[in-house]
Parts: sequence; structure tokens; C-alpha cells
Amino acid sequence: PLYLYLMFGSLVIVVQKIYPGLLLTTSMEVFVTFLMYFTIENPDVKMIKQLEVAKEQADKANHAKSEFLSSMSHEIRTPLNAIMGFSNGLLEEEINDAAKSDVKNIVMASENLLELVNGILDISKIEANKLEIIETPYNFKDMFDELVLLTKARLGDKPLDFKYSYDKNIPEYLYGDAIRLKQVIINLLTNAVKYTNTGYMMLNISAKIKEDKVKLVITVQDSGIGIKKENIDKLFSKFDRLGVEKETSVEGTGLGLAITKKLVELMHGNINVQSEYGSGSKFIIRVDQKILEGEELEKAKNKKPVQTEQIIDAHGKKVLVVDDSKLNLKVAENVLKNFKVSTETVTSGLECLSCVKSKKYDIIFMDIMMPNMSGVEVLKKLREEKVNIPVIALTADAIEGQEEKYISEGFDGYLSKPIDKTKLKVILNKYLKGE
Ligand code: ADP
Repeated sequence: PLYLYLMFGSLVIVVQKIYPGLLLTTSMEVFVTFLMYFTIENPDVKMIKQLEVAKEQADKANHAKSEFLSSMSHEIRTPLNAIMGFSNGLLEEEINDAAKSDVKNIVMASENLLELVNGILDISKIEANKLEIIETPYNFKDMFDELVLLTKARLGDKPLDFKYSYDKNIPEYLYGDAIRLKQVIINLLTNAVKYTNTGYMMLNISAKIKEDKVKLVITVQDSGIGIKKENIDKLFSKFDRLGVEKETSVEGTGLGLAITKKLVELMHGNINVQSEYGSGSKFIIRVDQKILEGEELEKAKNKKPVQTEQIIDAHGKKVLVVDDSKLNLKVAENVLKNFKVSTETVTSGLECLSCVKSKKYDIIFMDIMMPNMSGVEVLKKLREEKVNIPVIALTADAIEGQEEKYISEGFDGYLSKPIDKTKLKVILNKYLKGE
């Protein structure tokens, strides 16, 4: 730019000598300054570049971490499926009281571990921007009742006065991500149960209706141990457990509130906390939900509730389970035993393909990640060979959104490991009943 300045400068002097009316100096100076800005090494520009490189590297590292976390939690789910399956099975057997209490502890510990794994999955998805808010119509009162029921179960025989209420002006049907909304409220309620030893806890949902939306104000309050002022800022950061030195008996991961805050923000809401150390805490979530109207409302009203009752008669029904892990097959067999179906198991896709040729099955449960031939490939082959037995994906791949993915691949249903008995019941009900 300096050479250009000299060159242009001399040129402009000559030109202006010939055409004194022309004012070229200013535009030349602007042009050269412009050039200088972009070419002379500017410490700010250099720093921005360095920062961009550093950010890119950090993003990459963060991405690798998220991938690692999600594959780790997948790997952990598989043996956990076996632990939960077998210990739940043992609880139903005739065993002595001491053994029963040990097994109950195993069940409790594995449920905690599952909660942790799910939490890590959620956090890694949120950080990878993979977590989506999926809005569907839902029944507000049903959701509220479920929250109350779950909290009462969590309370067990803890002597707490649990108060709950909601504004009667809240429409029956709303439109939003009910699963995530329930998850955040459950997180707050679970904390209230965990960190309150005497007194009360309360859930209140109030609402203001504005045009086609309802502004929900969800308050969870308790008379528990409270949070110190200096700790309030740390409350929503990952793995921060405050005052755990004293509360070592309380199970927790320090992930719940970090996830809660992020989920609430994804739903365009906000969360606030007021707390007094020693006398209790109050968490308030504000979030908008759409009100269901017109045709959509009629559709939601007419939707039949999911049937969860025990299947009437599954005797004689034949189930095939395909999984490369023998341990997982045993777990599936144990759970299926409760439904009185006859279960066969095979450890590979090829065996499955040959079995369906010689025998008739009513339903197939198919693992996805198997060596040689994945569950998805087996399903494709089955359909190519015109085998139309319902096939349910049975997988440790429990990331939100996977269900839709597998259904779109052609599976008739989806069940994540560890197997949830109620969900299994719903599936069996759907495919084995009434034939
Ligand atoms: P976790 O409960 O699994 O440890 P959270 O992220 O849900 O993790 O909570 C983080 C920390 O905030 C808890 O460890 C606890 O110290 C504190 N906390 C959360 N809710 C309450 C509450 N209702 N009363 C007192 N302390 C709480």
C-alpha cells in the first residue's frame, strides 16, 4: 500500500496539473487507506484469526467429546440392560428376605446408573445441538396427574406434606413438547424430594392466556435444606453438586439442573430460583404452550389412550428375539416370560432369516448393532423375501429421535434397552392381541 500510495500520489499530482478542476486526492487517500486496512498486518485482525482457529479446535474437541459420551453411554446401557433385567427378574422369585433386600439395592443402584447415563446422553445431545423440541398435542391434566403420581411414589414414606394445584383456566389440550416439559418438572420435583427432610413441598402451575397461547408459570417449592447465596450461580452448571460434603447420602449427579435449564431455554422459556439456606427453595419455570383449537383439538380428543393393561391371552404366540449378545437374549427371555409367550432366540441375522423360513412367528424383536449383518439389513432382507411379521427394533441406541428413525427405516416399533416392561406390554398388546 505504501508503494501504491507513492505511485498514485505522483500520478495524481501530474493529472491535477493538467486538469486542475479534478479533485482526485481525497478519493485516492480513501482507496489507499482501504488497502492498508486489509493488507497491513493488524494486531486485531491477527487476533481474530487466532481466535477463530482456537474456536474451531475447541469445537472439534467438544464434538469428539460428545461423540465419545454418546457411544460410551450406549456401551454402558448394554450391560446395564442385563443387570436390570436379571435383578428385576430375581425380585419376582421366591428368595429370602436378606437376598431380596440386596437385590432391591441392586435395582436401585442400576436405576440411578441409568438416570446418569440418560443425563449424559441428554447433555451431549444438547451440546451437539442435536436435541430437538418435538411438539405434539397433549392432555394437560393427564400430564399433571402423572407428575403427582410419580412424586408420590418418589416420596415413599418420607414424612413430607406434598401440596399440588393448578389453575382451572388452563385448557385441557395444549400443544408443546410434553415429554421434555414433564422431564424438567420431574427434575425439580425430584430435587425437592431429595433435599427436603421435613415440612412440605409444593407444585403449582398457574397460567395466563394470551390469544392462542397459554403462559405457564410452574412453581416447585420446598422447605428443605436451601441453597447458599454464593452457590446459586453455580446451580445450573454441569456436575456441580453443592454442599454434597454434608449430604453425601443424597444420590445425584449434578446434571439435572444443567439439563433442566437448557431444555427450558430450548422451549423459549426461563427458569429462576429463590432460596434461603436452611429454610427452603423455590424454582419457577415460565414457558409458553400453544392452545389446541379446531380440528386439531377434535383429533386429540378422539385419540384413544394407549392400552397398558395386561394382554388378555398371549398363550401360543411365538416371539423371536435376535441379538448377538447371549446375555441380552437371556434378559429378553426373562422379561417375555411374564407374558406367557413362547420365546425363541437366535444370535445373528442369518439365523433369523433361516428360522422364519421354517417356522411361523407372531413378532420379532431385533437388535440393531450386530456383526456381519445389522438389524436394519436383516429387516430389509425379510421384507424382500415378503416376510411380513411385525419387527420391533430392540436397541441400546436410546437417543431421542431414534424411534422415528427406526420407524422410518421400516420397523414396526421401537423398544430401548434396558427393556421397559410397560412399553413392552404396549407393543405386545398392539401386535399379539385380538387375532
Ligand atoms: P443432583 O440433584 O443430581 O445433584 P442437580 O443438577 O439437580 O443435581 O442439582 C445440583 C445441586 O443443586 C444439587 O446437588 C443440590 O446441591 C442443589 N439443589 C438442587 N435442588 C435443590 C433443592 N430443591 N434444595 C436444595 N438444594 C438443591
